[in-house]
Amino acid sequence: MTNHPTSPSIYVSVLSDYNSGYLHGKWIDATLPVDEIYQDINKLYITSKFTNVTATVCNECDFIKLYEHDKCSSCNSPNIKTVPASEEYSVHDSEGFAPFEISEYSNIEEIASMADILSNVGNDEGLAKITFLASVYQDLDVIKDKIDDVILFNGSRGDYAEQLIDDCYSVPDFLVNYIDYPNL
Ligand SMILES: [Zn+2]
Repeated sequence: MTNHPTSPSIYVSVLSDYNSGYLHGKWIDATLPVDEIYQDINKLYITSKFTNVTATVCNECDFIKLYEHDKCSSCNSPNIKTVPASEEYSVHDSEGFAPFEISEYSNIEEIASMADILSNVGNDEGLAKITFLASVYQDLDVIKDKIDDVILFNGSRGDYAEQLIDDCYSVPDFLVNYIDYPNL
């Protein structure tokens, strides 16, 4: 855990080791493609001290897959070996996901989707939009779709109401002082 993660990252550990009082895990960059994240987790599984299932490792391309297979699911080679493995992980820590929250029950697809949204944000303004959307919507696809629709306004609710009315209507001068902008 010496390398401090700079992009959204998760600390994944193997549950069977953890439950036996042994921390066996690593930080994984969550902006990687989902398949690569799973391969990183599979690498942890086959180096676990408390194995309870088997996995196959391809001798041609190193692809790891849990349980028994006749050939490699990645390159189709029958040149594979069977090794002991674990089969359950837990996300024990995360970095760089705010405003999203990661729990140990968050699944990898969900985590990768959050990382994808965040890695496309270049500045504080983008992050403010995501923070707003995440407070309104749960669905990550919806949040992703709506980022470009959010318009940030720097000021109070009343300032915003005032500007909106100025932009949209021409308020007769005699009425201006009667509009209670902050409470609109
Ligand atoms: Zn292969």
